[in-house]
Amino acid sequence: MAQTFEVSILGSSSALPTSQRHPTAQLINVAERYFLVDCGEGTQIQLRRYHFRMQRINHILISHLHGDHFFGLVGLLSSMHLLGRVQTLHLYHPPGLKEIIDIQMRYSCTALKFPIEYHVHDLEQPKLLFEDKVMEVHSFPLNHRIPCCGFVFREKPRPFLINKEKVTSLRVPVSQMGALKRGEDVTLADGTIVPNAELTCGRTKPRSYSFCSDTIFDLSVIQYIKNSDLLYHEATFADDMMERAKTTFHSTAREAGQVARQAEAGKLIIGHFSARYHDTGILLQEALSEFPETVAAEEGKTYSIDEQLIVQKKE
Ligand SMILES: [Zn+2]
Ligand SMILES: [Zn+2]
Repeated sequence: MAQTFEVSILGSSSALPTSQRHPTAQLINVAERYFLVDCGEGTQIQLRRYHFRMQRINHILISHLHGDHFFGLVGLLSSMHLLGRVQTLHLYHPPGLKEIIDIQMRYSCTALKFPIEYHVHDLEQPKLLFEDKVMEVHSFPLNHRIPCCGFVFREKPRPFLINKEKVTSLRVPVSQMGALKRGEDVTLADGTIVPNAELTCGRTKPRSYSFCSDTIFDLSVIQYIKNSDLLYHEATFADDMMERAKTTFHSTAREAGQVARQAEAGKLIIGHFSARYHDTGILLQEALSEFPETVAAEEGKTYSIDEQLIVQKKE
């Protein structure tokens, strides 16, 4: 059965919001597991506007503690509480966030009805944040003015799809189905060994999405995001603000395109646009000149990564 892999953009602006754009937030849905990545101011309103159910979010990942990436968090937690949440919420974050939340809850006399599990980032090296039978999420360090992490969402390899006709005609024992799904060859009752490729129709390629939050242009991230089907990279400035990009540890749209090209990404989404660009066309043009498969993040839009069947060569 087809499995969902979607990225929905809730905020595409950088530090200053505009009347059209909100600060950073994205909702990732992998096989009905919902992850909120960053939570700029107004994120809960954006969730409502685009009809996402906030209580389905069990994991919130905060890339860094610049306000445009987490000032919406306390409001969201408070609404989850008011809506009767009891389920544990997992927060993945740089050091300091628990203190910030505790003090706001204390002075607003809010005793959350649900537990929060805090998971502090490793700011030096990649770290496995979440794993289940379907997928895994990793963080990796980024090069920004303050400690900052990016994230990779990766599907685990899916089972091989059994060719029912072939399996029935060769009378493959039921006990061998597990081995077939794992990609192994099977032995029939008469001792004949049948290669896996003859009995399966291949399997879908594991998909991945990488989120490069605020960062200066730095190709050392390639090792973490290589071959992502979908890559988000910040593109705060156009070429005209190259110097400003460097001093503020941000990237230009062209640099985002260079990262996508070197990472051999399938598709690039650029975002975190400076409020000075009313029209993001110039940013898109500059990124496109480096990487043709680029789109400019559009709030309310969901980008899905399609399943792709890989068929094994039959010997
Ligand atoms: Zn930012
Ligand atoms: Zn920042």
